Amino acid sequence: AKAVGRNNYQFFRAEMKHLTNDRLLLEHSLHEALEKGQFYLHYQPQVKSENDHVIGLEVLLRWEHPVLGNVPPDQFIPVAEEIGLIGRLGEWVLNTACSQLRDWRSQGFKDVRIAVNLSVQQLRQAHLVERVASVLRANELAGGDLELEITESAAMLNPEVAIEIFNALRNIGVELAIDDFGTGYSSLSYLKLLPIQRLKLDRTFVKDIETDPNDAAICSATIALAHALGIEVVAEGVETEAQRDYLLHREADIMQGFLFAKPMPAEAVPVFLNSPRAV
Ligand code: C2E
Ligand code: CA
Ligand code: CA
Ligand code: CA
Repeated sequence: AKAVGRNNYQFFRAEMKHLTNDRLLLEHSLHEALEKGQFYLHYQPQVKSENDHVIGLEVLLRWEHPVLGNVPPDQFIPVAEEIGLIGRLGEWVLNTACSQLRDWRSQGFKDVRIAVNLSVQQLRQAHLVERVASVLRANELAGGDLELEITESAAMLNPEVAIEIFNALRNIGVELAIDDFGTGYSSLSYLKLLPIQRLKLDRTFVKDIETDPNDAAICSATIALAHALGIEVVAEGVETEAQRDYLLHREADIMQGFLFAKPMPAEAVPVFLNSPRAV
């Protein structure tokens, strides 16, 4: 029995070493990924429910590591936050996306805004508002050309601070959306105080909307609540016609999901914006 225990222990040690190496490799690689140009952006269309017009593009970060391959953002963004890299990385995303939008504007695409994800640490960054204002100015964009998405849990971590920063961002015209709504236990009293234009209804509720009465109730109630507060609803992760019909019926304002388009590289966006969509 002792020998087995020892073997298990050695196996465990080897596993741990492997995990630790992976983690260290990830951290080390992240530190040099910016300089090495390994990050790029994808864009996912958001469409107006009633007419399928593209009104926005969510900016989604991608990392192609030479050995690890494509590392999903759900895996590397938490690490980037822990090692204090998210500030620089977030700034790179904002700069790159704004300069891309400026390009599209000069090609004649006037009515589409970009939606950029903001991490909780960026929210706490000194001079965030000045930085956003200066990126917009540098790219000859208006505040309304940019929407910032902040998760419900990030906003609720320190609601007073969030309210203050959100107000400052609104003063420069930037639009604000609460991301992953329904997963973060918001206090409704704070929701009322946040100067937001949109709620993004989390994909987990949309997924089983036709079969799970609880999810359906949450979707309907969220839409009703948002509308009562003068806030639009973006339904995330819409994959099927049935989900779309259901959400349309319950007056979700905007939809995003694989049914309309998957996140795509920048080169594909003008083609998509020009194509008549038969959804
Ligand atoms: P999110 O902000 O909730 O982004 C939506 C995610 O859902 C994206 O995953 C998108 O590809 C995926 N998605 C969109 N439509 C559908 C659909 O119909 N079905 C399914 N199954 N999935 C769909 P992605 O690109 O892997 O991003 C994951 C998360 O990583 C994002 O979740 C966001 O929290 C974070 N993230 C991505 N880019 C950034 C960034 O630039 N900054 C920060 N702070 N976080 C980012
Ligand atoms: Ca988002
Ligand atoms: Ca989301
Ligand atoms: Ca999410």
